[in-house]
Amino acid sequence: MRALIYARQSVGNEKSIDDQVEECTVDVREQGWELFGVRHDGSSASRLARKARANWPGVLKALEAREFDVLVLWESSRGDRDAETWLGLLRVCRNLGVLIRVVKDEYTYDVRLGRDWEFLASQGVKNAMYSEETRDRALKGIRGAVRRGHPPMGPAPYGYRREYDRDNGAVLQLPDDATAPVVREIFERVGKAEPLVAICRDLDARGIPTANGAKAWRTFAVRKMCTNPAYVARRRHKGTEEPGNWEPIIEERLYQDARRVLMEPARLARHTHARPGRYVHLLSFLATCGECGGRIYAQKRIEGKQERRYGCVLKACFFVNQDEADALIVDLVIGRLSSPDIYARLRRSGEDASGVIRAAENEIAELRGRLETWRASAAKGQTTPETMAAIETQINADILAAEKRRDAAALPEALAGWPGPIADVKARWADATIQARRTVVRSLVKVEFLSAKRQKGIPVHDRIRVEWI
Ligand SMILES: [Zn+2]
Repeated sequence: MRALIYARQSVGNEKSIDDQVEECTVDVREQGWELFGVRHDGSSASRLARKARANWPGVLKALEAREFDVLVLWESSRGDRDAETWLGLLRVCRNLGVLIRVVKDEYTYDVRLGRDWEFLASQGVKNAMYSEETRDRALKGIRGAVRRGHPPMGPAPYGYRREYDRDNGAVLQLPDDATAPVVREIFERVGKAEPLVAICRDLDARGIPTANGAKAWRTFAVRKMCTNPAYVARRRHKGTEEPGNWEPIIEERLYQDARRVLMEPARLARHTHARPGRYVHLLSFLATCGECGGRIYAQKRIEGKQERRYGCVLKACFFVNQDEADALIVDLVIGRLSSPDIYARLRRSGEDASGVIRAAENEIAELRGRLETWRASAAKGQTTPETMAAIETQINADILAAEKRRDAAALPEALAGWPGPIADVKARWADATIQARRTVVRSLVKVEFLSAKRQKGIPVHDRIRVEWI
C-alpha cells in the first residue's frame, strides 16, 4: 500500500503542520504502508486562504493517476473545506478504490462502503456554520419533501381509495377493504410465477371487478399493477422512488418477488412483442437493424422468389437470407453453450444466482433504511441540504447498482440446463421448440444486421454483428 500524507494548516486546527506530518508518518509506519509522499499547504506564518491550497491540486492529480492507494489526513477537515470539493474527492476515491486514513479518528475509511462514505461526506460539510439563509432553504426543502410524499394526482391505484382530510384538505390514500386483498392475491400469484393469463382467467371467473373498468382482466393490467411501487408505499419521482405517506398493501419482499418474475428476460421479451407461440422464425423481432435500430421481421415469401428473407421493419435498410442467418446464429449459440468456460460459468452463476439475489435485496433494503435515517436527520435540521442531496444521489445510485446486480443474476435462469458438451447441446437444440430456441438466443446474444449498402455478394457473416450478453 502506497500512502500519501496531506497536511494542512486550517482555521481552528490545533495541530501544526509539522505535528500533523509527524503523527501521520508514524501512523503510516505502524500500518506497514509504504510512504509515497508528503504534501502540505499553509504554515503558521501564512494563513491566507488562496495560498493555503497551492499543493492540493497536485494531490488530486496523483490521486486521479492512481499513484497511491491511501490518502492519509490528520483529520477529515470538517468546516474548512467546501462541500463540493470534499464530495468530489470522495467520489474519486470511491471510483478508484483509494482509501482515506484519518489519523485523528484512528480509522481507515473505505468510501466504496456506503457507511464510510456517508460518514466522511457528512463530516466535510459545514454543519455548524450554515447560515440562517441556508437554514430557511432547508426548511422549505423539507416542507417540499413532505408535500412530495403525498399520493400522486389522479385516481387512486386499484386497491386504494382516496379521502380528503376534513381539517386541512390533505389527500389521503387508504387501502380499500374490497380491492386491497385482490392486489395482494395477484402479487402472491405472480411471485410464484403463475402465468398471467391463468390469473386473469381466474379473476374473471370469480367476477372480480377489473382494475381499470375494462370488461375482463388483461395481462398488461396485471403487469402494470405488479410493477407499481405505490403498493409498497413508494412513489416515482424524477427517475427515482421516494417514500409515500400512505400505508403499503404488500411487503417489499412480495413486491420484489413479483417484479423479478416479470423481469425475467424470456417473459419480458414475450410481453414486449406478443403472445407466446406467435413466432415461427428464430430471429424475427429479436435481432435489430444495425442501421436504424429497428426490429427485424421475417418477410413473407414473395412469389417467384425462392429465398426466405429477414428485413428491417422500419426503413427496409437491409434484407438478408434467413436460412443462412439462422444457421450462422445457431452455430454461434451452440458453440457458445458447449464451450467449457461458459459451461462452467453459467452453471456456477445459476447456483450462485439465488445467493446473489438475496444479498442484493438485503443490500437494497439496508440502503433504503439508511436513506430514511438520513431523511429524518435532514428533517430535524441535523444534516444540511447539500449533504443530503449528495447522500441521496449516492445512495440512489447504490440502490440502482444493487438492483442491476440482482436482475443480472436472475438472467442465467433462462439458460439453466442448456450448457454442456456439444453433442448434448445439439440434441437439446434439435428437440427444443422455436420458443425455447428464441429464449436461448435472446439470453445469450444480441444480434444486429447491417445493410449491404447496395453491394452484391457480401456474405451473411459480414453483415451480422453479434454481441455476447
Ligand atoms: Zn433499419
